Amino acid sequence: MNSEAVNTKPNFYDLSLNQITDILVQLGHKKFRAEQLFKWVYEKQVVDPELMLNLSKDFRKNIPEIFDFSLPAVLKELISKDGTRKYLFDVGNGQSVETVLIPNKERNTLCVSSQVGCNMACKFCYTAKQKLKKRLSVSEIIGQYLGVKSHLPEDIQITNIVFMGMGEPLDNPDGVFGAVEILHNPLGINFSKRKITISTSGLVDRIPMITEAGVRLAVSLNGVNDKIRTELMPINKKWPLDELLNACKEHADRSKDKVTFEYILMRGLTDRLEDAVALKRITKSVPCKINIIPFNEHPESGYQRSKEGDIRAFQEKLISLGAHVLRRKTMGDDIYAACGQLNSVVSQQNSIQ
Ligand code: SF4
Repeated sequence: MNSEAVNTKPNFYDLSLNQITDILVQLGHKKFRAEQLFKWVYEKQVVDPELMLNLSKDFRKNIPEIFDFSLPAVLKELISKDGTRKYLFDVGNGQSVETVLIPNKERNTLCVSSQVGCNMACKFCYTAKQKLKKRLSVSEIIGQYLGVKSHLPEDIQITNIVFMGMGEPLDNPDGVFGAVEILHNPLGINFSKRKITISTSGLVDRIPMITEAGVRLAVSLNGVNDKIRTELMPINKKWPLDELLNACKEHADRSKDKVTFEYILMRGLTDRLEDAVALKRITKSVPCKINIIPFNEHPESGYQRSKEGDIRAFQEKLISLGAHVLRRKTMGDDIYAACGQLNSVVSQQNSIQ
């Protein structure tokens, strides 16, 4: 096979089971071969065709000529003193993304990236310092899951997946929902949709895609009125709070699931008691829980973390008003893996490899 043909081979990890079936059938193979191959790769995690013993010899020989099996390489692994693990993945052309595994009691949550950089320009976010460079392909998202899994000790299993890493997931629906389909397929990884959460800064017209995919919705809220939210998150100009909250209510009604609102506490800006009262008021019609997140400072952040006493008072106020509220523990801040601190340019510059 010449090199031109090699370059045009589809990447196996970009393809749904239906797409793999179509390709194989067109090449004259039996339909059930697609399922067999899919199971070897995702369920048994075997990619060497020679080891796929229930496939015919001829088909095994053909597989590397039909599909490319390359995945993003892990450039770096950092382990925080609290057990958080951060991985830097090479996604080509000198670009990279970060993926974080956050251990918390019986859960190990994988926070995956959907883009290199991001155009949403949220003022508090370190990723936003890198403008959008690339929307990740399905294989580059699936590759984060498979790459982290292969680096973990056997006793650590990934129990939850959140699309809260670098990038706005709804600005890359092809990559994100293509990856969800593969993650969930019962013949492969078989990851429960109830354990997958997609977080958005508020692309209101695309929230129904999350409902239709059957995964959970998280919304980065961070402001209790349009003035403060627009200042922090420019997307609010296009989709103001009342439209965003209506879309959240619609999702909760249709999915019969609670929405998670993420709310970052920044000193003197979002952490006053009257903000807590307003937060409860504006979210009262949406079945929800509220995650309060003390701001994680990062280079050039410009904002300050709230004082400990103010964080506690804010949380207690919300609880007293009947809100379901959790405080997000800061994890991995010593390796810049905490919420809002991901920036692959800096990680690459600091790379020790
Ligand atoms: S918070 Fe999310 S949506 Fe906003 S700039 Fe950062 S990565 Fe993009």
